Amino acid sequence: MQTLETYTFNSHKPGANLLVLGAVHGNEPAGTLAIEKIMQKLVQAQITLKSGSVTFIPVCNPVAKQEDVRFIEHNLNRILKRHDFEKTLEQSYANQICDLIEKADYVLDIHSTHLEGDLPTVFNDFVTEETSAWAESLNVGTVITSWRDMLGSAGVADEFSDTVFHSFNHGKKALLVEAGYHNEPTAEKLAYQAIEKTLKFFGMVDKAYTEANVSENTIAHMYKLVFKTEQDGKFVQDWKHMDPVVAKQVIAKLDDGSELTAEQDGYIVIPFPEATAGEEWFYLAKKD
Ligand SMILES: [Zn+2]
Repeated sequence: MQTLETYTFNSHKPGANLLVLGAVHGNEPAGTLAIEKIMQKLVQAQITLKSGSVTFIPVCNPVAKQEDVRFIEHNLNRILKRHDFEKTLEQSYANQICDLIEKADYVLDIHSTHLEGDLPTVFNDFVTEETSAWAESLNVGTVITSWRDMLGSAGVADEFSDTVFHSFNHGKKALLVEAGYHNEPTAEKLAYQAIEKTLKFFGMVDKAYTEANVSENTIAHMYKLVFKTEQDGKFVQDWKHMDPVVAKQVIAKLDDGSELTAEQDGYIVIPFPEATAGEEWFYLAKKD
């Protein structure tokens, strides 16, 4: 089994223990690049840690990253739990990530999305006063909640074991950042800012050197997950992540002529036109 590369920076002073994850999905380079950049600054003492410690896993799924694919055998962010008898590389990665999550206080997991022009978003799945303040402090532009409620409504909560869920199950607080389109240079920049602002939020550095890029975050709440089925269907337009939709608006048409519509005023979330049968096709969130 392959050991994941991890790097820890310790101030040797009391404070938060933060874990930052990159490339849980192999084709999402932003987190890895941002982690490499901030580690370089920590090594060169351009940034000094004044309290607590931070651990980085720049590449959580190295075998998928090598192939530039989302995953090989299992979507790592759907099987992120303990596997007593690990049979695949991705199950062994999951176990190693679980080890580090259980040692941390806070977890920041950085991802990116499928389409050029997708807006960045922070997912705050288990809302507390602290996670809301942390999510707001990242100034990403959009904060989405109710991910687990949506999975429960779709009856698939048991099949979705992810980094944030494992953190929650062990009493840790976690946020997941979608930094924008995979290959957009702004995604790396946003991911970097998210790490720096997180260090600032927990008082681990004196200041974040990057400017806030929005004045107010849009808040939205997930309410629906739609899987691609065997039946072919198409989006009625080139949706991007966080495109606004109104109640009853048609999102997609299936080959039998039936239409998939929004139930409430809100947004389309992480549309994936290339999804194959059984994969997540799109989600819907309602306005705050
Ligand atoms: Zn991802």
